[in-house]
Amino acid sequence: MIILAVNAGSSSLKFQVLKMPDETLVASGVCERIGLDDSNFTLKYDGQKKTFENPFPTHKEAVDFLLKALVDEAILPSLDVIKGVGHRVVHGGEAFKDSVAIDQAVKVAIDDVSDLAPLHNPANLMGIEAFEKALPGVPQVAVFDTAFHQTMPKEAYMYATPYEWYEKYRVRKYGFHGTSHKYVSQRTAEILGTPLESTKTIVLHIGNGASLCAVDGGKSIDTSMGFTPLAGISMGTRSGDIDPAIIEYIAMKENRSIQSVLADLNKRSGYLGLSDVSSDSRDLWAASDKGNEKAHLAILKQAKMIVDYIGAYVLAMNGVDAIVFTAGIGENAPETRALVAKRLGFLGTEIDGKKNQVRGEEAIISKDGASVKLMVVPTNEEVMIARDTLRLIG
Ligand code: AMP
Repeated sequence: MIILAVNAGSSSLKFQVLKMPDETLVASGVCERIGLDDSNFTLKYDGQKKTFENPFPTHKEAVDFLLKALVDEAILPSLDVIKGVGHRVVHGGEAFKDSVAIDQAVKVAIDDVSDLAPLHNPANLMGIEAFEKALPGVPQVAVFDTAFHQTMPKEAYMYATPYEWYEKYRVRKYGFHGTSHKYVSQRTAEILGTPLESTKTIVLHIGNGASLCAVDGGKSIDTSMGFTPLAGISMGTRSGDIDPAIIEYIAMKENRSIQSVLADLNKRSGYLGLSDVSSDSRDLWAASDKGNEKAHLAILKQAKMIVDYIGAYVLAMNGVDAIVFTAGIGENAPETRALVAKRLGFLGTEIDGKKNQVRGEEAIISKDGASVKLMVVPTNEEVMIARDTLRLIG
């Protein structure tokens, strides 16, 4: 059977067409610039890549075009083979501890937490509604970025702020990238051949956005992102953790609004802010290799933050079996992995310089006999979405 895994943004719609239960990728693509000029649609299948220039005023036209293309290009014999559509939904608040089959009440609940993810949840809902219209009767499933972290104990997810902020406004740590952390931690136990229930993993999802997660026995017990994806380690353009008093201080000094200072923390900080070079790790390493001290500092700062979190998570889990790198940088940047690993000797582990040269492939990269394994496991959120969709549609 065919399942679509969909990630709808405010002006984009990414998708994968997967044959289940064997998890084969049949086709993938993206519709970009929905509602804007120059909107286009890219479809990849059978080693080919086709781009269509077409006006897509709303997500509805993008979904209609996608479904028509799947049949016109003979990728699917007919739309009847599509048995489910799984949607990435960024925020499930406290209402959703697992993925869920979508009905009217679920849509209301997703809308209800839209103020916690104003850029994402309304867009995710647009995607859901476009597929409801295009494929009436085909079950749809919501897979939440936050759901995996709903197992965190209260002392991990509460901030030490007035309790009424939590009661009135739901201010707490939610965490993100949950689908990735879940996939990678499950795959790690499979690769190690250890039962998930007794495996302690620290997942380092390091991409343009980045979050770390302590997974004890298959359950998230702590994660570095917080109420929003701004918290945690420094990222491509985000600061990660800072003293919150800095926000008012800069607002006062520069006669600016809190929103504008927050925009700096989201868009002009992290790699980009410290280095003044780029938000992209490849540019940063290239500049650092040429002697750019600020680029070098941006790299060192992120590595220090990663190691600080690893230390905290080892103590929180009372041990660790595997520390696993994933996402754009984690999967592809041996130099970043080596820098982090250099500080982990106290755990009785050491990186193997040769094995660490791997890019985008599963591998154990620590030296033979290390008590804590260092690993690379490429993430696959779409497969996780398709698996949950299959489980929930029966
Ligand atoms: P993501 O957000 O997961 O797509 O990750 C984006 C980040 O991954 C960017 O900082 C890229 O520089 C980094 N990245 C992607 N490919 C490579 C590569 N081959 N070598 C080093 N960094 C890479």
